Amino acid sequence: MDVFGLLGNPVGHSLSPPMHEAAYDELGLDARYVTFEPDPDDLGAAIEGARALGIAGLNVTIPFKEAALDRVEPDDLAARIGAVNTLDFSDAGPGDPPTGHNTDAAGVRRAFAHHDVRLADRHAVVVGAGGAARATAFALADAGATLHVANRTADRAEALAADVGRATPSASTAPTAGGLDDLDDRVAAADVVVNATSVGMEEDRSPVPADALHADLAVLDAVYRPLDTRLLREARERGATTVDGAWMLLYQGVEAFERWTGLDAPVDAMNAALRARL
Ligand code: NAP
Repeated sequence: MDVFGLLGNPVGHSLSPPMHEAAYDELGLDARYVTFEPDPDDLGAAIEGARALGIAGLNVTIPFKEAALDRVEPDDLAARIGAVNTLDFSDAGPGDPPTGHNTDAAGVRRAFAHHDVRLADRHAVVVGAGGAARATAFALADAGATLHVANRTADRAEALAADVGRATPSASTAPTAGGLDDLDDRVAAADVVVNATSVGMEEDRSPVPADALHADLAVLDAVYRPLDTRLLREARERGATTVDGAWMLLYQGVEAFERWTGLDAPVDAMNAALRARL
């Protein structure tokens, strides 16, 4: 039996176990997906122990995504983002670290692709500058979008835009950044908007002024609890294409599954298992 799992703290409400186990069931794989909650000081021991026990792959979530980078062999994208969420032990011999990947970025890219939203040469606004925003900003820049990062704390937006600009030399236009003051103008002129803040999770609020939303926009909200956020409702009312946060969550899992198994993921089964719990 192959064992996969999730390292995080806390992981009690994670949707990854039912999503991945639905894929194993659908394809008849002899595999299990288990959650682990190590003490934050024990991250290194947990990864080494997982390798020693023959665990095939691990997802990594809060608070370990950045710290895990130093304990893996990161691929280029994970190194540029500065965080990993997927560890692959398949090529790790005794004493070798696992390879480290960031499938959150693929989650964004594939969520848009699923909705036929083109990113190349489009103007994109990322709202937020935390972990989700970092993965989103790199995904959009790598896909060829022109990027503006807007965040409550403008300094953090500027730091993220500078990181993306430095680490994405292929980008034709350097990312810009700022606070939330001119977000309405930025969104009105954009083709793509991603909410990568936690606004909309605790209360029925949107980080984007409703009047700025328009029919030529594609809007992804990384928030998935609730699924239908105020931002998505207001975007839909104005005729925009909307993509909820479960698509991003689904496709980061799909990407991890495909990396670990080498198989095409049964996306519909994983999606159904995920949405049944939201
Ligand atoms: P994080 O690193 O803590 O970043 C939080 C971000 O939200 C920061 O940019 C912060 O701005 C901003 N923010 C918080 N409260 C705000 C407020 N009242 N007004 C304006 N901005 C505010 O969190 P994260 O890990 O990036 O997660 C962000 C969201 O994405 C969460 O809802 C999380 O569930 C979701 N997420 C979804 C997926 C998915 O697969 N769908 C994956 C990862 C995360 P400051 O810098 O000014 O504090």
